[in-house]
Amino acid sequence: MLIEAAGPLGIEVVVLDEANCPARQINLNSKHVTGSFKDPEKVRELARRVDVLTVEIEHVNTEVLEEIATKGVEVDGRMKKVAVHPSWETIRLIQDKFLQKEFFGKAGLPIATQIPIESGTAMKKSLQKAGQTLGFPFMLKARKGSYDGRGNFKVDGESDFEQAIAEMGKLSLYAEKFQPFKQELAVMVLRTEDGEGKLRDVHAYPAVETIHEDSICTKVFYPPRQTSSEVCEKARKVASDVIRGLKGRGVFAVEMFVLEDDSVMVNEVAPRPHNSGHYTIEAVPYMSQYKAQLYSILDIVPPSIKLQPRVAGAIMLNILGGREEESHDKLVDLTQSLYNDDMDVFLHLYGKASKPGRKIGHITVTSYSPDTKLEQLAAPLVKEVNQIRQ
Ligand code: ADP
Ligand code: MG
Repeated sequence: MLIEAAGPLGIEVVVLDEANCPARQINLNSKHVTGSFKDPEKVRELARRVDVLTVEIEHVNTEVLEEIATKGVEVDGRMKKVAVHPSWETIRLIQDKFLQKEFFGKAGLPIATQIPIESGTAMKKSLQKAGQTLGFPFMLKARKGSYDGRGNFKVDGESDFEQAIAEMGKLSLYAEKFQPFKQELAVMVLRTEDGEGKLRDVHAYPAVETIHEDSICTKVFYPPRQTSSEVCEKARKVASDVIRGLKGRGVFAVEMFVLEDDSVMVNEVAPRPHNSGHYTIEAVPYMSQYKAQLYSILDIVPPSIKLQPRVAGAIMLNILGGREEESHDKLVDLTQSLYNDDMDVFLHLYGKASKPGRKIGHITVTSYSPDTKLEQLAAPLVKEVNQIRQ
């Protein structure tokens, strides 16, 4: 999707990934670096071929990114420094969810109470202490490497300890107070910096409502349903404050909980384009999150930047792989056959192999009239999306 945005802007993208990776399928230039983004030598090779280096996943080797940004990479006997955005320091901080949230908490931003959990033989005692401090249920989370709910375990009581130790015991962990939230919101924020690493500005898209099922985001609603504009604006402000305090350029997703008293709490940050911003491809054609990513990392954000959607409503549905490789075929057919004057349907398939629970594409529906009952019109798609997960 980044490449789709880059093409018309005349920006060339070089990808480091496997030979037939999804991005490669639509980016046939000769500069592709074939290999793993976990391999430092491949990352150096990529750095030799580009002016700016960015990432689409935060679970990367930040040592090599630091080296490239500060010392540089050797090209013809000379060292070439390459800007890394978002900053390797930000990626490193975000990689450890516990440290990430400690950082936000110290800055006075609202986070859930959290405590580190010991590993090995001390783990059970540590869990007991967490239960006493946080109450039950609490969330046991992997500090690193988690995504789409992998690495989260809800501990309902002491009877869950054994299973938690068996499933999570080998990871570096922390416990987090369970938040009985009313709703989850997310805000995409664009951060710009000058050449000296000084903050220029932050720009926030409107808040969206995110629905997670089994800890994985399945649906996104713009605007959030049954949410006051005050709460939406509060979320935008909190998200902007969170991103202002980080380093580097780029778009960031801020995931938040709305609690019973309408207060907003920060859940976590993703330092990259995010599925809560996919709807911007159609809803904010002037500045999709991918165009925003390119403009911000290249520091060419126009002063007239506008992030307000041009549609009255949008819903994004993630396509998660089902049990069979062809489980989602019916859904794809439906996007082509479903017709309604008041709703536009956009299909995105990523060219990924289907695996159960893997995000392999998404659908965005939009409407131009505030009177359109978009959720009702999209109901057949929602039903089919839910069906795949059965
Ligand atoms: P991931 O990195 O997999 O996105 P998150 O920490 O964002 O992990 O958790 C995924 C989802 O699990 C959240 O969007 C939310 O629905 C639920 N969740 C996470 N933390 C809590 C919490 N402290 N209280 C209640 N629900 C939570
Ligand atoms: Mg999350």
